[in-house]
Formats: sequence, C-alpha cells, structure tokens
Amino acid sequence: MSESALLADPLKGRGPGRGLPHVASYWNAVSGPPPADDGALAGNRETDIAVIGAGYTGLSAAYHLARGGARVVVLEANCAGWGCSGRNGGFARPVIGRHGPAKMISLWGLETARSVFAVALAALGTVRALIREGGIDCDATGEGHLKVAHRVSRMKGLAADAALWRDKYGYPANLLTADEMRTKHLGGPESNGALHFPDAIGLNPLKLSFGMLRLARGAGAIVHSASPVTGWRKDGARHVLATPGGEVRARNVVIATNGYTAEQLHPATRARLLPVLSHIIVTRPMTPAEKQAASFFSNHVITDTRNLLYYFRRLPDDRIMFGGRGQILDTADSRAAQRAFLLKELVRKAPALANITVEHDWAGWVCITADQMPHVYHAEDDASVLYALGYQGSGVSFALHAGKLLADRIAGKPLPALPPALTPLPRFPLPFLRRFAQRAAFLWWRLQDERG
Ligand SMILES: Cc1cc2nc3c(=O)[nH]c(=O)nc-3n(C[C@H](O)[C@H](O)[C@H](O)COP(=O)(O)OP(=O)(O)OC[C@H]3O[C@@H](n4cnc5c(N)ncnc54)[C@H](O)[C@@H]3O)c2cc1C
Repeated sequence: MSESALLADPLKGRGPGRGLPHVASYWNAVSGPPPADDGALAGNRETDIAVIGAGYTGLSAAYHLARGGARVVVLEANCAGWGCSGRNGGFARPVIGRHGPAKMISLWGLETARSVFAVALAALGTVRALIREGGIDCDATGEGHLKVAHRVSRMKGLAADAALWRDKYGYPANLLTADEMRTKHLGGPESNGALHFPDAIGLNPLKLSFGMLRLARGAGAIVHSASPVTGWRKDGARHVLATPGGEVRARNVVIATNGYTAEQLHPATRARLLPVLSHIIVTRPMTPAEKQAASFFSNHVITDTRNLLYYFRRLPDDRIMFGGRGQILDTADSRAAQRAFLLKELVRKAPALANITVEHDWAGWVCITADQMPHVYHAEDDASVLYALGYQGSGVSFALHAGKLLADRIAGKPLPALPPALTPLPRFPLPFLRRFAQRAAFLWWRLQDERG
C-alpha cells in the first residue's frame, strides 16, 4: 500500500490532497472511464455560488442551482466522486441520521419524528428522480433492506421496532423468521430473522457519481477537478476562495466536503465533525456450490443489529461486498488488519464461504456529528455560507436530497419540516478528545455486540 493511497486524518491534515484519481475499488474496476469535467481552475473566476466538494451533496446542489438559472462553480480537490460518493456500499435507504424509531420519538415527539421519516422517504424519491432525469445507469436494484438479528436475542428489539414502524409511522416494515431468511436470503449462525424495509435501492455508487457529474454540467454548472480550496477570505459581501490555480469570487458558498472537511476550512464546521473510517472488502464471485451452501441468495442490501454494524450485499456477479468500521487512523497496518478482520467476520456469518478470497478492499471517511444527525444550515454569523454535512455513514439518499434542499434555501423556496436537521451543527464538547471518545465508544460497542 503506497503512502499516497492512505487517507490523511482530516482532524490533523490541511485537506484531502490534490488531483488524486479514484480509489482502486471494485466500483472503479467495473464502472468504465469517468466523464469529462472542466479541468483544474486556471485563473480567476466570478460566479453566483461556489460549491466546495463534488460528491453527491455538491453535485446535487450544483445541478439544482444551475437548473434554476444560477451561475455555479464547483471546486473539487481531486475528482468528482473521489470522496465517499464514489466509494460507498451503494445502499440508498430512507434514513436521516442514526436514530431508530423509538429514539426519534423520545427525542423530538411523534409528530416531528414522523415528518423526519417522511423527508427520508422523499430523499429516496429524489434518488429515483435523479436516476430517471439523468438516465443514470448505476445498476440499481430496488429490492429493499434487511436488518438481520445477529443474535437470537436481538429479534425482540426488531419486533418492537416493527410494531413502531407500522403503528406510529404507518410504514410497512415486517419481520422475517430465521427460516424465511435461510430459504430466501441468507443462512448461517448470525441470521436469526430480520426486519424488512421494502424501500431501499442497491446501486453502483461511482456510476451514480458519474451520472451526477454529467447532470450538473449538463445544467450549466462548471466543475473544476484538482482544485482544492486552500484559502478563504471575504472582500466586502463576496467570498474569495483560493485554489492552487486561481481564485473564485462568489456571493454564496456551499460547503459539501462531509467526512473530508479539514478543521481549518471554515469556523462554521470546526470542532463539529468527527471523521470515522469505514472499510469495505469485495470477494471473488461465489461458486454456485458456495452460494447454495451459504444460502446467500438475497438481492437486498443488508445490515446487522450490531452497534458497530456490518453492511453487506451480494453483488450482481455473485461477489460479496462486506463493510464495517473499527479502525481509528488509516495506516498500511490498519488497512491490512481490517481487511483480514472483515473477511473473518464474513466467514463467521457464512461459514460455507471459508475458502472465499478478497479481491478488492478500500476505505473512506464517514462523517459523524455530536447529535448523530446531519445538518443542512448556514454559518451562524454569515447566512451566505451554507453547508450540508454529517450523514453518519448513511448519505447516499440524504446527501442527494440535502443538495436539493440547499439549492431551495438559496433560491428562497420553502423547506420541508425537518427541525432536527435544519439547525446549526452542534460543537463537540471537549473537541480535542474526539478520537479518544471514539476509541472508548468502539470498545464499549464491541463488548455489547458480542453479548448473547
Ligand atoms: C466505505 C464507505 C461506505 C459507505 N456506504 C454507504 C452506504 O452504503 N449507504 C449510504 O447511505 N452511505 C454510505 N456511506 C456514506 C456516503 O457515501 C456519504 O454519506 C456520502 O457519499 C456523502 O457525500 P458528500 O457529497 O457529502 O461527500 P463526499 O462524497 O465525501 O465528497 C466530499 C468531497 O469534498 C472534497 N473536498 C474536501 N475538502 C476540499 C477542499 N478543501 N477543496 C475542494 N474539495 C474538497 C473531497 O475531495 C470529496 O470529493 C459510506 C461511506 C464510506 C466511506
């Protein structure tokens, strides 16, 4: 593993690099060449809105703003989709933040919890609409999501959640027994029944990024790659963003850098974000005998009931994609350890895959906030600086939707009822202890997760 392929800690570093190619992932191997962009910024530019970061958030904001007639310039340090948007697991689910159905009601009351979930469903509608509008071929399958009980004891919690989803949210989540799981989806000692959500899409995230780049440019947005924002000052009411190749002057700035946000980028995000590594392995294709023996038939996107959960799916070519968190910093040793660990955990779930091998592995920074919710808002002392950040590792659908919400906010259109997210990013208490607290939480969760 070369040093340059490793990810610098955004809490320490000055930014995600400059002009780096897409990570060597499975998605990169199967998605073909990226579409053209506008190259590195060379010289100075004047625009209405500058967007920092060309992932789903930035490209969706750029697309919706440009479609509405605004002049938009996107500045991306590496290439469009280089961050999480081009390297995630491809689970598009109706989720906003990390809280389950009971917690949402206890935090905000039933009415608000319901409206947050309604926006989460609308976000999935935005994914479908963008795929349609852009004719984006991203191998989307619409089979749903399974949350699998990794211990028999976890079925009780899933049954309680199923009742809440049905009775309080009016949503048809339903329970599957261990037998139903084994015959239709997945067998093995950690498949003890599941909660099924009918609305979820499995897709190729890099192809979706490529499609969003085409859509944004097609609507008139300019997307500069290899253009990291390295300086930011105000000149009267205008923002001046400095990159190595020139400056962009803009009335509004959208921060769309999520887990790759450097601490010093802007005070509105400083001490408010915790980037957390998530790793993925992709195996060689299962043989028909292995697939049968593991009962790994499911086309659904799957997570389990752990706090430090595993997310996995059978890919169209019968490979298994398996992801999880656990490492704190990205080093050659931690990469190798996590690759071996994820393979061991996959085989624990599917002992019939004892001889499976790993052909791809990679990592990225997901973005955690102090209240475990994303925030779509603006700097408290300057409403011309907007951001959408903190998807808690579940941003495929909400990042695309949040980009649209930012565009609506700039255009002065009304926003939906989403009180917990349409607020300023909260500061972490004792922000210098963020990595320490993360280590402690991981240890505690691992202990809880392994209980019977
Ligand atoms: C391994 C992994 C698996 C995941 N799996 C899932 C999943 O299955 N489902 C799900 O819903 N979510 C998943 N996520 C999370 C999801 O991918 C993200 O929430 C989402 O892609 C965030 O999109 P974004 O546009 O906000 O940020 P990103 O796509 O991360 O884009 C941010 C961009 O900002 C750029 N940038 C940063 N600083 C600067 C600067 N100073 N100047 C210019 N550019 C800059 C970066 O280069 C980067 O390209 C996963 C994440 C990881 C890492």
